[in-house]
Amino acid sequence: MQKPNMTASVKPEIIVIAIDGPAGAGKSTVAKILARRLSISYLDTGAMYRALTFKALREKINLEDGSQLAELAKTTKIQLKASQFGLRIFLDGDDVSEEIRSVEVTNNTFYIARAPEVRAIMVGLQRQLGEQQSVVAEGRDIGTVVFPKATKKFYLDADFKERAQRRIKELQAKGKTVNEQQLQDELNDRDQKDFTRKVGPLKKADDAIVIDSTGLTAEETAEKILQYFNK
Ligand code: C5P
Repeated sequence: MQKPNMTASVKPEIIVIAIDGPAGAGKSTVAKILARRLSISYLDTGAMYRALTFKALREKINLEDGSQLAELAKTTKIQLKASQFGLRIFLDGDDVSEEIRSVEVTNNTFYIARAPEVRAIMVGLQRQLGEQQSVVAEGRDIGTVVFPKATKKFYLDADFKERAQRRIKELQAKGKTVNEQQLQDELNDRDQKDFTRKVGPLKKADDAIVIDSTGLTAEETAEKILQYFNK
């Protein structure tokens, strides 16, 4: 992986829209709509943590061992490329866009996400991407850590029950059988881990605008966010 850039500057002509929030709040769908409407790139930072998790699982790396994970991050190439099928995620040159969405990857990403050295590398890479082009970046620490000087920051949230329902529908649409109680437990567990980890926890930036997407479609949520661009 490239050497991380540890500065957090945003060039004046570059627009960075930061969207943070818990799983199922609608961040990725809304971010994609915003990127399209604003004609800028979409940066899915969760996909980067997922890609590294996928590799760690495949290589049977001890997920409890921070130094092994750091070594893995240093020697892994993760690329995000826009394509006619949307954003594709490449791991050491291979397209892993589908594989990184598995339940196994989802439930193990917290090991990667809590490793400070791994986060430092990921954040550096994300900053490099945001310094080259205008982006809508979504994740957990975008407004707080990755782009503290982002042009606009949003914290997207929704009721827990609705977030869980969205995940259930997403999985069912892919033909998967879903145990609703188990999914709710896993989502709750992921929320707690995201909120409480020591480095880069999920947190609303002081200057972020809170958007509640409960009861709204992704299009309606994006519209709500776009209203802030005319103010
Ligand atoms: O956004 P997504 O659900 O794909 O992210 C997967 C996981 O990656 C999250 O649950 C979180 O633990 C981690 N993540 C993170 N920081 C980010 C984006 C995602 O720690 N900026």
